[in-house]
Amino acid sequence: MDAMCQRAVQIGLPALAFTEHLDVSSWPIKPEDMPDQLRPLISEDGILTPPPLDAEGYLDSIERCRHKFPELRILTGVEFGQPHLEEAGAREVVDLDALDRVNGSLHTIPLTDEPDSARSEPYTLYRRWPADKVIRQNLSEIPRMLAGSSTFTVLCHIDYPVRYWPKDQEGPFDPKRFEDEFRQAMRAIAGTERALELNVGGPLRPWIPQWWAEEGGRAISFGSDAHTTDWLAGNFYEAMAMAEHFGFRPGHRPEDFWSR
Ligand SMILES: [Zn+2]
Repeated sequence: MDAMCQRAVQIGLPALAFTEHLDVSSWPIKPEDMPDQLRPLISEDGILTPPPLDAEGYLDSIERCRHKFPELRILTGVEFGQPHLEEAGAREVVDLDALDRVNGSLHTIPLTDEPDSARSEPYTLYRRWPADKVIRQNLSEIPRMLAGSSTFTVLCHIDYPVRYWPKDQEGPFDPKRFEDEFRQAMRAIAGTERALELNVGGPLRPWIPQWWAEEGGRAISFGSDAHTTDWLAGNFYEAMAMAEHFGFRPGHRPEDFWSR
């Protein structure tokens, strides 16, 4: 976190939020579906348990960073996975109401439409299902996620499964094939007044802010998904230009959502 703040100062970033991962459930996964360094998290019977968030250590580190980098606006936050299913477990780990930002993510997809369905990661499901079904099933979960949780104000990486799209078999990802489903999910998000994250750590996808604006989305946040300092605010200038093109404007404070 210290190195991240140093990097922020170095590149002239005025504010940042440390949205630590908060995934409190376990799910089955094959070791070959995980990067090497994460494989030790998988138990012998094939269950991945994300390491718990050390909330106290995290908040102490935030305080130290704020003290050391007074020129930066440093926000607390979490990227809360499956918030509609995990609220009780999450509240045992951290006081969600005391955080500056609670972002909501879907990192797992239900295998059926039943509320208590087993779930799996998109990269696992691409090997088990037709690729289209992974994208559609993920997007169809978004209304349930919105209805089932009031804790989060930003929806992260709506294109998460696109990262693992099997282009060797399917060719390049074509958003047009899923336009209706993406627009429907975006309409649902816009209807709850939440912000959509523009995930600027990977390739930029201009259709996201475009469809978001067209479907009534008012606010965006920029997320660099930076798990290392190199990626802090990666593609940020291009993303700002893209957001501006679709009518979004910065707020008064650097940490404010951009809105239209
Ligand atoms: Zn995520």
